[in-house]
Amino acid sequence: MTASTQRALVLFSGGQDSTTCLAWALQHFEYVETIGFDYGQRHAVELSMRPQLLAKMRQQSAGWNSRLGEDHLLDLSLISQLSHTAMTADIAIEMQANGLPNTFVPGRNLMFMLTAATLAYRRQLGVLVGGMCETDFSGYPDCRDDSMKALQVALNLGMDSRLRIETPLMWLSKAQTWQLAESLGGTALIDLIRTDTHTCYLGQRGQLHDWGHGCGSCPACDLRAKGYAQFCANPHGH
Ligand code: ZN
Repeated sequence: MTASTQRALVLFSGGQDSTTCLAWALQHFEYVETIGFDYGQRHAVELSMRPQLLAKMRQQSAGWNSRLGEDHLLDLSLISQLSHTAMTADIAIEMQANGLPNTFVPGRNLMFMLTAATLAYRRQLGVLVGGMCETDFSGYPDCRDDSMKALQVALNLGMDSRLRIETPLMWLSKAQTWQLAESLGGTALIDLIRTDTHTCYLGQRGQLHDWGHGCGSCPACDLRAKGYAQFCANPHGH
């Protein structure tokens, strides 16, 4: 079997960031599996896009098709039992007194990584790939580089393993994430991400804007639209 350092598990939600991470992993590793989580998110649009997105990722290149392995969709509804946030309950998105938006689901990314690590252990996948990003985000503390590095240490100590957590988007702006996608898969991947990935917090598909589908006004749509506009103004990042 391929060495576990060449076998990756990508946290794949069906959004722009995780699709870019999947393309990155397919370029860097010999074998790639994907994992997604159903945690009672208000809108299952993103999850429902996954099978079709994976099929279309296979069509992007013969190499990607041969490297892409099994997909795993796990039930983490425990998260919606534990917390009450704008991601899992029907309440308006707003800023909280602690400076975090109420779309922050405490412990979510930690639980995702723990779950992924447990599956990776069984599947002999040595690398976990996630779209966490410190640069352009809402300041979610579990997206921080230090959080991920500390978690890698904790997971490896706790499971006596040598897992590596890779976060290729950690220091990229949203515009640079589009640039990365362009460098990995050219215009075909940009078009796939525009039309088939979902980011909108409100779960709206609606009309196709130049940056993709969505309501156009929630924080996630706003970031995505601004990043795409910057990318178009400066596609190669010079
Ligand atoms: Zn939106």
